[in-house]
This record gives sequence, structure tokens and C-alpha cells, in this order.
Amino acid sequence: MNDCIFCKIIEGKIPSRKVYEDDDMLAFHDINPLAPVHFMIIPKKHVDSLAQAGPEHAAVLGKIMVKAGQLAREHGSPEGFRLIVNTGRIGRQDVYHLHIHIIGGPNPLPRMIAKE
Ligand code: 5GP
Ligand code: ZN
Repeated sequence: MNDCIFCKIIEGKIPSRKVYEDDDMLAFHDINPLAPVHFMIIPKKHVDSLAQAGPEHAAVLGKIMVKAGQLAREHGSPEGFRLIVNTGRIGRQDVYHLHIHIIGGPNPLPRMIAKE
């Protein structure tokens, strides 16, 4: 995906504040944090969204979920956190490279979504 901004972050063509990296995933701070702790974890292999994920993505997604807890504890959210995976038009996804938001901090977050 040549024009994918998260692929460019993985390639180092766009700078980011890295939290963690290994062969399968990259974690980096969100450029527009919504809470004291707000970073994302992405699989290095491009997939548009969770709606496009298949069995071949199960291993990396499992690793990301486990790593999320460890990184949240180590980066300012030891008492809990929230994962968000905005998916597709209904999920209000803006960047179409699957990413898992990790959001937290010292204080309880707002409730899950606002009722309209
Ligand atoms: P989405 O709405 O797709 O779930 O979230 C995309 C997120 O990517 C947003 O929270 C936005 O702030 C973040 N973002 C967009 N462009 C960049 C960028 O170039 N660098 C970083 N670090 N975050 C970005
Ligand atoms: Zn990508």
C-alpha cells in the first residue's frame, strides 16, 4: 500500500514516537492524543481493517492484544486501559491500516460511547 500513512511510519518515511517494535508489530504514540496515555499498535503487514482480517492475521492480532496490556502497564496506565479498533464507515475509521488504540492514564476514562 504505497499511499498508506501507517505503512510509511513503519518504513520510517514518516516520523513517529515509537513505543515498541518487533518483527510483527509497531506501537507508536497517537499524534492527537485523546487521553494522557494514547498510543496505537499496528501489524507491520498491511491489512485495511479488522473487517478484512482473516485466519492468517489471528497470530499477530493475538500477539498485539497481549503486548497491549504489557505496554499499557509500562507507559502510564497500570490500573487499566481501553482498546479501541475503529472499523469501517460505521466505526468511523480514518486510517485504513488496521490499528488498535490503547487509551488510558491515571484517571477513569469516560464511559464507552456517548448515547445519542
Ligand atoms: P482512526 O480514527 O482511524 O481509528 O484513528 C486514526 C488515528 O491516527 C487518529 O487518532 C489520528 O490522530 C492518528 N494519526 C493520523 N495520522 C497520524 C500520523 O501521521 N502519526 C501519528 N502518530 N498518528 C496519526
Ligand atoms: Zn498500511
